[in-house]
Amino acid sequence: MEEYGYNPLADYVIGVDVGGTKINAGLVNAQGDVLGMVSLATMAGEVSTVDRIEKAIREVIAEGERSMPGLCLKGIGVGSAGQIDWEKGSIRSASELIPGYAGTALKDILQEHFQLPVIVDNDVNVLALTEKLLGAGRGAEHFLCLALGTGVGGALVVDGRLVHGAWGGGGELGHISVDFGGIPCVCGGIGCLEQYASGTSIARRMREKLAQMGQPDDTVDTREVFARWNAGESTANELMQETLAALGSAIASYIHMFNPSLIVIGGGVAEAGERLFAELRKEVARRSMPSMLDGVRIEPAYRGNWGGMIGAALQLWE
Ligand SMILES: [Zn+2]
Repeated sequence: MEEYGYNPLADYVIGVDVGGTKINAGLVNAQGDVLGMVSLATMAGEVSTVDRIEKAIREVIAEGERSMPGLCLKGIGVGSAGQIDWEKGSIRSASELIPGYAGTALKDILQEHFQLPVIVDNDVNVLALTEKLLGAGRGAEHFLCLALGTGVGGALVVDGRLVHGAWGGGGELGHISVDFGGIPCVCGGIGCLEQYASGTSIARRMREKLAQMGQPDDTVDTREVFARWNAGESTANELMQETLAALGSAIASYIHMFNPSLIVIGGGVAEAGERLFAELRKEVARRSMPSMLDGVRIEPAYRGNWGGMIGAALQLWE
């Protein structure tokens, strides 16, 4: 594979955020400003995901060339769902949400097609770059990000750099066990944080509790759990205390392992609001060495639009 040189005069990068349902692509500058973007349905399982990614990039380039004739691109940054072999820029594994995607040599394919330098990383890792530039991570050299959504994703920044590990899988913070005899996890582990703190698991555990109480309600989602919690309902409170204990236990472990100055929490569960953060800070304090906890901030993630797409582009300036 030919190596593509960076153009020092180029001001714009194409950032691409590849998810199970949507692909967002946009022109992004070094300040994280978005100048034109497109959003396409992934259509996973119906059409090739690579074809959809290429289509999104082609549309953004066409739009950029219309509004800025002579547009000079620095490269393409991709933040993708799945586990990414970071050096190769290939998809090492992907969930059943994107069939046929695992094994894709995405970096090679896109470099060949667009004749531009390409960097591919995991979608949560690139969110940490958005935090560094625009979010709570500004000025922080040692921090970690937890994305509490369908699953629990993580990213780890040490000495100002993302930690990739041997091939790019580092920072799977959702799959540390918070209960060695706990709920079996999809990863093969037992009692993983993801089984207690993802939006999916919060809703599932609430439905299980209601069924045990003889009040089955299959419509309950995460938002409903938070509404019941804020209304003071005891079942929702019991469930959220478990969730907070699991999160507090995991975060105390991260603090003892990595000595971060900041923990950033995003994803749908962070939408539970300030009460979640206030109680979580107390829970972490109960479980951490005071000397290690001193000065550690626990903050919500960047709330602006297109954080994943911006972070994907920012890789080219790292
Ligand atoms: Zn797991």
